[in-house]
Formats: sequence, C-alpha cells, structure tokens
Amino acid sequence: MSEESKTFDFQAEIQKVLDILINRLYKNREIFLRELISNAADALHRFRIVQLEQKENMLDPDVELAIHISFDEDENTITVTDTGVGMTYEETVQNLGTIAQSGTLEFLKELDDTSDVANLIGQFGVGFYSSFIVASNVTVRSRSFTADSKGIEWKSEGTGKFSVSYADKSSRGTEIILTLKEDAKEFLNKYKLETIIKKYSDFVGFPIRIGEEENPINRQTPIWHQAEDEVKDEEYNDFYRQVSMDFTEPFHRIRMNVDVPIQFKALLFLPSRRDRSMTSVQFQDYGLKLYSKKILIQEKAKDLLPEYLRFVFGVVDSEDLPLNVSREVIQVDRTIRRISKSITKKIIDELSNFADEYEEKFLEWYKQFSVFLKEGIANDQKRRQKLLELIRVKTSKSEDKPITLAKYVDGMPEDQEEILYLLGENLQSLKQSPHLEHYKKLDQEIILFDEPIDTFLMMHVTTFSEKAFKAIDQAEPEPPKESDDDTEETEEKEEEKDKDPFVVRVKEILGDRVIDVRFTDALTDSPCRLLGQGAAAYTRMMKYMTEDYIPMAKIMELNSSHPIIIGLKKLFETDPESLLLKKCSFQLLENQELAEGNLKDPNTMITRTTDFMKQLLEK
Ligand code: ADP
Repeated sequence: MSEESKTFDFQAEIQKVLDILINRLYKNREIFLRELISNAADALHRFRIVQLEQKENMLDPDVELAIHISFDEDENTITVTDTGVGMTYEETVQNLGTIAQSGTLEFLKELDDTSDVANLIGQFGVGFYSSFIVASNVTVRSRSFTADSKGIEWKSEGTGKFSVSYADKSSRGTEIILTLKEDAKEFLNKYKLETIIKKYSDFVGFPIRIGEEENPINRQTPIWHQAEDEVKDEEYNDFYRQVSMDFTEPFHRIRMNVDVPIQFKALLFLPSRRDRSMTSVQFQDYGLKLYSKKILIQEKAKDLLPEYLRFVFGVVDSEDLPLNVSREVIQVDRTIRRISKSITKKIIDELSNFADEYEEKFLEWYKQFSVFLKEGIANDQKRRQKLLELIRVKTSKSEDKPITLAKYVDGMPEDQEEILYLLGENLQSLKQSPHLEHYKKLDQEIILFDEPIDTFLMMHVTTFSEKAFKAIDQAEPEPPKESDDDTEETEEKEEEKDKDPFVVRVKEILGDRVIDVRFTDALTDSPCRLLGQGAAAYTRMMKYMTEDYIPMAKIMELNSSHPIIIGLKKLFETDPESLLLKKCSFQLLENQELAEGNLKDPNTMITRTTDFMKQLLEK
C-alpha cells in the first residue's frame, strides 16, 4: 500500500440490501460468479468503446480483453480478473459504496417468498454485493485505463464499512479477491467453477479462462447470434441436445430475429418425442432460457410462452431487457409479454405451414403432441380458432386416418347444420356406439373423440368455421327427417308411445337409474341407447375429479323393432312381473353404461350374466 487508507461507511441502504441478499440467495449462491463475470464483461465492453474514441495515452493498449478466474485452496480465495476499464479512486468510492439506483431497497423489501431474487438481482445494480454471500472478506484492486492512472485497493468485510487506498497495480483492469466463508469452500474447485461458468456465462463475448488453462471455458458467440446459414444442422442439433437433454433430433427448428417493437433473437426447437414429464402436473422444467445481452438471466423461463407450449426448448435473447432496472419492473413484464406474444404466434404459424406442406410428418408428430394443442384450444381463447385448424380428428367415415376440421366441414351435406361428435373412451367402442346409427342412415359423418383430454376440450369449444358443435349422445337429438305435413299427428303418436304400458313398466323396474324410458326410431341395429343431459365422457371425467359426483340420470331409448325389445314386450304382456324382464331391463341399461365407461357396479352385472349362462346351459 503506497498511501494511507481511508475508511468509509456504506450508504445506509447497502447493509440492508446485503442482509436481504445473503438471506434470500443462500440456496442460489453460485450466482455470485455470474454477477462478477457480468461486471467484468461490462468493463471490457466499455474499454472497447473508450478505445474507439481515444487512442492516445492508454494503459496496456494491446493486452487481450479477457476474464481470468483463479482459486487458491491454501489462501481460501477466488479471484476474478479482467482487463477492462478499471476504476479510479473516486469511481471506486462512488461505485462500490452506494447503490446507483434509487428504490432498490424498497423493491427488495417488497419481494415475497416466491419472488425469484436470483433472477432479479442483476437487474438492480447490486450484483457486486452478491460477493458477500460467499465471502467474508472482499478485496478489489483496480487500475483505470489511462497510462497515468493510479492503482487502488478497496476492502470490506461487508459489515457497514469499507476502506479505499492507493495501491501498486501495474496492469489495466480490475481484480476481485474473495476470501471465502467457511461454508463456501465448495467453490474452490475447478470443475465446480467451470460448471457455473458454462451454465450462466457460456456466451459472454470475451474469453473466460480458469487457472493456467489456455483454452477459454466459454463458447462466446452464441449460435443464435450467428447468421442462420452459418450454423450447420449438426451444430443446431448439438445445441438442442444441450438445452433439452433429448437425444433424438428435434422435429422442427425456428429462428427469429426481431427488431421492432422489441429487439430479440430466438432459437426455438420443437421436440419430436414427447417426454413423459411434460404432461405431469408437477411439471417445472420449462425449456426456454432467457438471456439479456448474451447473459443468462433466467433458466426454465416460464413466462415466455403460454403453458400449453411448455414442450418448446430454446433460447430468447433480448437487448431490451435491461440489466439495470429498478423502477422498470413493469416495463420488463411488458417486454416479456410482447416477446411471448410474438414467439407464440410464430410457433403456431410454423406448425400450420408445416402441416400444410408435410401432412404425413405432421401427423406423426401430432400423435404425440395433440394433447398440448388441445390444452391450448381450451385455455387460449384468443388463438382458439387458429389452433383448431391444427387438430386432426377421426370420424365415422375417415377410417383411422384423421382429418382436419375444415375437411369435415367441407364434407357436410347441405342440410347438416352442425358439427356432430361423440366422446368416448376408445375408438372401437365409439365406432360401435348405437348413437351413430341414426346418422349413418342420413349419411352424416360423426367426429369420434377418443382421447381423455377431448372431454375437457369440448367443454370449451363451441364453434368452428361458424358451425356449432353438437354432441350426439345428448337428449333431444334431431328427430329423424320426416315430411313436414302433420306434426301434430307425430306428437300425438309419440305421446301414445310414451304411454305404452311396456315402457312404463321398464321405467318402473329401473327406478332412479333413468329419468325416462321411451321408444325411438333413431336406432337400427341396437336394442337401446342412453341419452344424457351431459355427455357420457363428461360424467366420466366428473366422477374422476369429484369423488361423490352423482351422474345425471339418462333417458333410455328403446328400439321397438329390435328382436330383444319385441321379445321383452311379449314377455311383459303375458307376465308383467316376470323376473327375466327385470333382469333384462337392467342388463340392457348396464350394457350401455359399460360401453360408455360409466358402469358403477360390475359385480351385480357379472352375477346376472353368469345366471343367464347357467340357465341357458341347463335348458
Ligand atoms: P451494476 O449492476 O451497476 O453492475 P454492481 O453493484 O454490480 O452494479 O456494480 C456497481 C458498479 O461498480 C458498476 O456499475 C461498475 O461501474 C463498477 N464495477 C463493478 N465491477 C467492475 C469491474 N470489474 N470493472 C470496472 N467497474 C466495475
């Protein structure tokens, strides 16, 4: 020390900021290194600018612009060195004794337990002070960039005071020496330091070296800053592997380079394989990383995309996300929202284009990812119609090859007003559903929804291409088209049928299990069907979600020309109290409940069918 050292008090706020940082960032302590490297990179960048403006009288003009990290196990220190602009005595007192932004403390105090302090501190101009999370003692040695500058030394234990003195330092730039706390010795480890640097600072634009090593640890130029065609497919795929840990090739890659209204670059990947964790309720591994000026500010950035696009991996890097904000948090939110809007739109547009161009390949992908698109349709009202264009549906006519809704609508006969669908547990039972019979006669196509999420989907979708959706297992289906003449007579006829004593008896037998029993002309091959006020699939879902859900009773419709119904009617006419009539009524009801996945008590049914078999064999 060449001159006497002077002691200063920290600005009162700083001590409080420090306490909050130490408290809140304990689990995330490693970010101290990110902050110091970010400051170093900033100082290097500033030197580059100074050098452009001023050529004379520079200290070390030819020294490489770089960052060096070393550690000493005996001394228990980590040192971060840069060859940036450095600081004068006055600058040191000013920069490392006060907080430049007013309101920082107020802001930090207001953070609640869930706030992501680690991702915020860099933005609040307190990065340097994060050193004290791991260090009991910090020494800064610095020399400003002019040849006639003097070296300085700043020292503090982070407890209210710091000292500054002039010191011998021959080289330009800053050296920050942290004496680690007892419990922070884990950082005296090359591998650990390397991992942290790779994680947060891989794309810092200056070489970062550790110890004696020649090769920089960091990659420096991020591939999303390189021209699109400068990067080989292999390099993109390598990068994808790194961000996703998925070793299959991505399904699709998207690059964005936007300048207005918000500047940002994005490199996004859609995976070709759905990871099981993606549909888990505990999902937290959002695949996007948020960078600001090449420095990672948020991993697993949740707010960059709507929840249903959580399968997307990649990076977003924006110059418009300032590293130094305090009053502008709202501004940051707004920036992120705008970026989010822009990349969401882009992803959906790209998927549409891809689907148009490579139908088969899209279908392959769709098989795995349809659930996300459907979640989006349910939750993202603004993009609902656009997303509906992406879904593919199986129908009663499409065999097993799914078609678009547009194609379905195109194929609707002129007198068909609505988009008809049926929800169910699997394609096989849907195809055999008695509900289809009526529409088969009319040559109308029915969409068969067989995925569990479809029920949720159809609770939100009401129209497509101005046509309403209609579930065909709801009560009051369109009466079969008859000549319009004497409607009165038809009504009368129906009332008459309703009063049929056989139908009354069946209703009596089934009791509360059905609201009503009646005849129908809608069936051809099946003896009966159940009509609901809520679709069968809805009932199934509600039962799953609420334990004591009581399903709404159904209307049972009987096919008066079916041999079973004819037979039962005869049986009724000879013996209204017939046990077989009772058993068959329940069996008919429960057959349908079983097919719809809503049979409550399979044991009773099994006992009954076993009896039937016994009786048949005894004959
Ligand atoms: P900021 O977010 O402004 O970087 P910090 O508390 O991290 O807040 O640092 C305060 C100031 O100290 C910086 O703005 C910069 O002027 C100065 N500083 C910090 N580290 C360095 C460095 N390595 N070289 C030169 N100046 C530095």
